[in-house]
Amino acid sequence: MLLYMIKNAQIHFNDMGTPVADDFDDVYFSNDDGLAESHYVFFGQNRIASRLINYKQKQFVIAETGFGTGLNFLNTWQQYVLLKPKHSLPRLHFISFEKYPINHADLVTALDAWPTLAEYTQQLCDQYPIALAGCHRLEFENGQITLDLWFGDVHDSIPNISCQASGIVDAWYLDGFAPSKNPDMWQQSLFDAMANLSRSGASFATFTAAGFVRRGLQQAGFDCQKVKGYGRKREMVIGTLKQANNYASTPAYYTTTPSAMDNVAIIGGGIASACISYHLSKRNIESTLFCQDDGLAKGASHNRQGAVYPNLQADCNPPSEFYAHTFLYAARFYQNISAQGFSFEHDWCGVLLQAFNEAKYAQQQNLVEKNQWPNALIRPLDAQQASTIAGVKLPYSGLFIEQAGWVDPAQLTQAIFSAAEHLRQGQVHFNTDIERLEKTPDGWMLHTLKNTFGPFSDVFVCAGEHSDRFEQTQSLPLQGVRGQVSHIHAGGVSSQLKTILCHKGYFTPAHEEIHCMGATFEKDTKSRAVTEQDNQTNRSQLDKFYANSDFAKSLGNIAGAKAAVRCCFADHIAMLGQVPEQDDLIATYSNLRKGKHYGFTPLQQPHQGLYVVTGFGARGLCTAPLATEHLISSLCNEPRPLSERVHQAIHPNRFIVRDLIRNKI
Ligand code: SAM
Repeated sequence: MLLYMIKNAQIHFNDMGTPVADDFDDVYFSNDDGLAESHYVFFGQNRIASRLINYKQKQFVIAETGFGTGLNFLNTWQQYVLLKPKHSLPRLHFISFEKYPINHADLVTALDAWPTLAEYTQQLCDQYPIALAGCHRLEFENGQITLDLWFGDVHDSIPNISCQASGIVDAWYLDGFAPSKNPDMWQQSLFDAMANLSRSGASFATFTAAGFVRRGLQQAGFDCQKVKGYGRKREMVIGTLKQANNYASTPAYYTTTPSAMDNVAIIGGGIASACISYHLSKRNIESTLFCQDDGLAKGASHNRQGAVYPNLQADCNPPSEFYAHTFLYAARFYQNISAQGFSFEHDWCGVLLQAFNEAKYAQQQNLVEKNQWPNALIRPLDAQQASTIAGVKLPYSGLFIEQAGWVDPAQLTQAIFSAAEHLRQGQVHFNTDIERLEKTPDGWMLHTLKNTFGPFSDVFVCAGEHSDRFEQTQSLPLQGVRGQVSHIHAGGVSSQLKTILCHKGYFTPAHEEIHCMGATFEKDTKSRAVTEQDNQTNRSQLDKFYANSDFAKSLGNIAGAKAAVRCCFADHIAMLGQVPEQDDLIATYSNLRKGKHYGFTPLQQPHQGLYVVTGFGARGLCTAPLATEHLISSLCNEPRPLSERVHQAIHPNRFIVRDLIRNKI
């Protein structure tokens, strides 16, 4: 199991003002002009400028060992921006591994040394993530530059990267403290992993001329060459890998086949659809959206205040990892959308998970004792601290998720969609109920009762509880759970509430003098009719836990309600990927029953180009932005932001694959 909380770097600044790592007793960059050295060694010796200018694919990928202060990244970003006006450049994707991330305050101080980079430094520091292991995807320049910060030891992180057989990396910045100061990193296993992740023709450059490093890279398959080092340094080493290793980290039954994505349809008008259109637009891919309603976000995305927070368990299992990373990405993504001028009502007021009974208290204690999550993500509070943060007196201790909060889901969905349209205009068809999908030799045709649209190369079904209505999707084991949220007038004390309270349900701070209180949980019904009985259920649930609390006593009458159907799967995690064809899948992978995981003949893929994006439960606001980015990255043959184990956990084939492995079908 991965340990999810990692250590920040302990650093000090030497007499020259250069940051020094206490654990390694080595400088992050050279005392004499680290920026010039970074430019010469990594950007220059990998010939990044000329390769960017002449690159024929859509995205150039650089990977680095040791993010440190981010100087190499910032320099590369600046050079990209300088080249951009004169050349048609691919998008730039920068992957960097970091075992001990520098904390935010030290990062700001360290980067103060480079005034020419200030504009980029500021943006990096604004998005710089907390010390949680795994991949943090940051985006700059309207998505033209992506930074995947993989926190954790590079040796632990690389096996978590999903990689297709053609490789993913074009150039390596082999940095890291000097081999003599950091021997654990400079291992043959690292050089072999670099080769495995490399595309044909990938290059590397490293500041060190240590013989064992050069020999190790040669053994891994790189052609190596010594060249003049920077400044007073005599030598450094560069090299290339002629041919990709044909290494794929994903088993055949969990692959996502890349697609041309030249003509894309999206069915649905909720948060997932808006995110998909945004992620496509930033890649300059046009899409056409079909929505059965007369506007966006009329389904499950339509509450007044939707809470955005992760569902973390004591152990860092794949669902917890999924929720933690999707949450951190969502917070950045939403801030980025509003920074672009697309506004929506929101308040990052935190979410307080209350220990409202003994079982809940024990569960929370377990999470605290296991100590898997950084305090910056979730931290324990006693009842008094909880009351201070909440602004009202509370009877329970709890766990506080400070970066969480609420958004107006309908406005948010519209804002994301408008941002997508701003980047690249697509088409929208409202009041268009797609009721049949047909695969033809030219692509997918979408039929309403009266009209036909298409052909489309790729179709995303993001239709919430209706996602299983098509012949091709009807065998998906999708479950509908009805939920009603009640709106209740604030009272004198309740209007002081400053954070969202979660007990069995949730209760939001007043917005326009109304609180949201919910939600009911009713399986196997898809009715969206509001009932008085459900309002009473919500009220009595709140009273059950807060009967003696002044804020609950001060509440006014019910002001209204909204009901929706959350759709989910039995394993409580979303589903994103190509729609499986059950019989074909079982026939192709039947040997899984005998424990064989390799040597399958290729799948027929009758539903190639048809993807399902559903099962977000009540968590779409938290998970949809990154989950959809992961799917689009996979389909565009780019590095993926979610780890391989999470990729498998959300894959549509998972139920059939698990049943085959357990010999149940
Ligand atoms: N590239 C950085 C920059 O532009 O500021 C400087 C890198 S600094 C010389 C080396 C970095 O490698 C440190 O931040 C260190 O924590 C990181 N590092 C060392 N061993 C590592 C490992 N095994 N996995 C990931 N990162 C590691």
